[in-house]
Amino acid sequence: MMLLKTALEAKKQVQKDKKAGFRIGLVPTMGALHQGHISLVQASKEQCDRTYVSIFVNPAQFNDKKDLDAYPVDLESDLKLLEAHGVDAVFIPTVEDIYPEDHPFPKIDLNGLDKILEGEMRPGHFDGVAKVVYRFFEIMTPDVAFFGQKDFQQTVVIRHMTDLFNLPTEIVICPTLREPSGLAMSSRNIRLSEYDRSRAGFLYKTLLKLKEDINYIALEEAVGKAKNYLRNLPGVKIEYFAPVNGRNMEIVHDLSQDYIVCVAVIQFGGIRMLDNIVLKK
Ligand code: AMP
Repeated sequence: MMLLKTALEAKKQVQKDKKAGFRIGLVPTMGALHQGHISLVQASKEQCDRTYVSIFVNPAQFNDKKDLDAYPVDLESDLKLLEAHGVDAVFIPTVEDIYPEDHPFPKIDLNGLDKILEGEMRPGHFDGVAKVVYRFFEIMTPDVAFFGQKDFQQTVVIRHMTDLFNLPTEIVICPTLREPSGLAMSSRNIRLSEYDRSRAGFLYKTLLKLKEDINYIALEEAVGKAKNYLRNLPGVKIEYFAPVNGRNMEIVHDLSQDYIVCVAVIQFGGIRMLDNIVLKK
């Protein structure tokens, strides 16, 4: 497995692979890798000839400095895991390499996606996400890039950004990998106590129950029931819990649209837990 430490090295290696006719897959990550990340690697290995993984804790997407400082880092174990899963190259750039002082970045108009739901809770977050993904695509020009459904609004932002600039990279969204309890795997889960982690599957179970309930009762009633249930659990604070149009994240009030996802973020056990379920597609 190759280690690429600068943008120039990464660019050159990709160009070499492309010249050889290889289809390039990129899995962008912030490290502290788990099986959820590995599922993206596996999807890339199935669909591409060369799989590149980037590890970069992107300061531009953290609106809270404390969250950035507390973000878990374990490069040694990440590299072992990636090597064991047959990754071809890992790109580990520095902040200066991704954001050189004189580098021209275009203005990325997110059309309001950055102001609602996750964007409202974390001002500036999606600007940082769009900017870093733009820069990775600029350096590596992957044929395909893989993202997780777990960060649903992020996938909508990235699709919007690639459409906006007409970028040639195909975006593939992979299903959310879960712990046996149903808890969506996340690098932040290690901050949960063992006890909290064992019972943290309630968020996904609530989403599954919502999906069942909408067969019998109106969407808004079912969402109200789910929110009440969560609100009454000890130690749970809801940040948002909302059924949205899966293409533009606009809140929906009934099931008349063709693609509906319920997105949810709660605080529990000292961390933000993020999840979603497709209600209709
Ligand atoms: P992160 O390192 O948290 O920025 O995540 C890197 C990529 O892995 C993003 O596209 C995430 O959506 C994806 N990802 C994170 N957790 C999971 C999971 N449990 N299942 C599938 N993909 C995930």
